[in-house]
Amino acid sequence: GHTAWVALLGNPVGHSFSPAMHNAAFQAAGLNWAYGAYRVEADRLGEAVRGLAALGFRGANVTVPHKRAVLDVLDQIDERAARIGAVNTIVFDEAGRATGYNTDSDGFIRGLQADGIDVAGRSILLLGAGGGARAVAFALIDEGVRQLTIVNRSREAAEGLMAELQAACTDKLDMQVINWDPAALRAAAAEAAIVINATSLGMSTQGLQTPYPIDPALWLCPGLFVADLVYQPRETVLLAAGRAMGCRGQNGLAMLLYQGVAAWERWTGCPAPVDVMQRALPF
Ligand code: NDP
Repeated sequence: GHTAWVALLGNPVGHSFSPAMHNAAFQAAGLNWAYGAYRVEADRLGEAVRGLAALGFRGANVTVPHKRAVLDVLDQIDERAARIGAVNTIVFDEAGRATGYNTDSDGFIRGLQADGIDVAGRSILLLGAGGGARAVAFALIDEGVRQLTIVNRSREAAEGLMAELQAACTDKLDMQVINWDPAALRAAAAEAAIVINATSLGMSTQGLQTPYPIDPALWLCPGLFVADLVYQPRETVLLAAGRAMGCRGQNGLAMLLYQGVAAWERWTGCPAPVDVMQRALPF
C-alpha cells in the first residue's frame, strides 16, 4: 500500500539516532511508515515545511538549529510549545495543516517516570537556562514541583526564564536564581531531591569534557537523583560524582528516547514500542 512519511529537519542531521529509532518502531508495529532525515538551510525552512505538507507527509521532527524559527511557519502551536518557544515535533492533518509540539518536555518527564521518579511536590536544582533547560523547566512547573533553583553562568538568561515561568504559573512558585557559587550550590543541593544538568557542561567534544565551574563532587549530596541531559559520554562528570556518593541517575538518552516515544505516539495515535526504540539507541 501507500507509505506514510515522516521527516527530520535539521542542520546537520547526519549523526541523528532518530531515523533508526523511528523506523525500528514502525517496523515492529507493522506500520507501513518511513522516517527520513533532511538537511535544511535556515532560509528555506518555511519552504521545507510547506513542501512536506504538499507531499502528504504525516509528521516531522525539527532539530538544531530550527526549533525556534519553525514556530513562524506552522499553522497551529500547542500551548506548552508556545510557552517554551520551541517545537521539535510537527503533526500534519489530512488537509496538510501543521501543528507544532514540544515532546522534549514531555519526554523528559516520561524519562524520569521510567526510573520511578515523580517530580510533583519536589525541590529541583536545574543547571542551565538555554533551550534544553526551558523545555525541562516548563514541564516541571506543569507537573507541580514545589521549588525550583536555577543555576546559570549568565544571570540575565536565568532571571528571564524565571520571570517567564512565574508568568505561566497561576500560584506564585518558589523559585530562585543562583550563581556558580560553592556555598549557594551546596545549600540548594542539600534542599533538593533532583539535580538536572541542562547545560553543555560535561559534554564530550573530540574526547574532551567541558569542565564544571565547580567540581560536582564538592556540592552534590547523597540521596539526590541526578538527571543529565548530556548523553555523550554516557557517564558524565556529574553522573560519576553522583555515583561515587551513591546517588541514582540517568543520562540524556532517557530524554532522547522518550521525546521520540511521545512524537511517535502523536503521529501514529498508537502506543509506541518503547523497548524496540530503546534497543535502536546506543544505550
Ligand atoms: P544552549 O546553547 O541553549 O544552552 C547552553 C547552556 O549551557 C546555557 O545555560 C549556558 O549558560 C550553559 N553553558 C555552556 N557552556 C558553559 C560553560 N562553559 N560554563 C557554564 N555554563 C555553560 O544548549 P541546549 O540547551 O540546547 O543544550 C544543552 C545540553 O543539553 C547539550 O549538551 C545538549 O546536547 C543537551 N540536550 C539534550 C537533550 C536530550 O534529549 N537528551 C535535549 C536538549 C538538549 P549561559 O546561558 O551562561 O551561556
